[in-house]
Amino acid sequence: TKFSDLKLDPNVLKAIAEAGYDAPTPIQAGAIPPALDGRDVLGIAQTGTGKTASFTLPMITLLGRGRARARMPRSLVLCPTRELAAQVAENFDTYAKHTKLTKALLIGGVSFGEQDKLIDRGVDVLIATPGRLLDHFERGKLLLTGVQIMVVDEADRMLDMGFIPDIERIFQLTPFTRQTLFFSATMAPEIERITNTFLHAPERIEV
Ligand code: AMP
Repeated sequence: TKFSDLKLDPNVLKAIAEAGYDAPTPIQAGAIPPALDGRDVLGIAQTGTGKTASFTLPMITLLGRGRARARMPRSLVLCPTRELAAQVAENFDTYAKHTKLTKALLIGGVSFGEQDKLIDRGVDVLIATPGRLLDHFERGKLLLTGVQIMVVDEADRMLDMGFIPDIERIFQLTPFTRQTLFFSATMAPEIERITNTFLHAPERIEV
């Protein structure tokens, strides 16, 4: 498979070429086509396999030219740690640099003020840790009813850190019709249960 065979937005292909990527990794070749078809994806992949691009590239393509409304993000990426969320945000900036899509990073340890301002202005993509996302929600600053695409990254670490109840709550706050891209390095029974409950006929890709 070549990147140009995947039906990615030309602006995404341009950014990938500039990043010096030759060919998609196996998780990318497996996950991007069903994601672009609107399917749910269950990706079983470790870090270092290129999994971040496997959800970010189709997400950017699917969000296209639409515009976000105030306090209603169009997509959501949940990460277990601040560091991982910051890395995903950096990757997003690289891949989305030729688009007009906007993002906000919602992580703990920083004041709410700047994050509130971005949410109020309207962002296409929220990249967040579960606790901080729910803090914003409880403060009445955020609606998740406009979420079209929800990504859960490193679900196995979410489980280790006790975030599964938060993840379930967040799933329930988003529309039933959302598209879900869900990634985990391993499939513990609790992770299997969550995916059976909240994913709709996912395409399962294991690398
Ligand atoms: P990840 O598994 O998402 O943390 O990605 C691991 C590293 O691989 C990151 O530094 C990416 O920039 C890089 N990467 C992702 N996809 C590709 C690709 N198709 N070709 C070359 N490098 C890549």
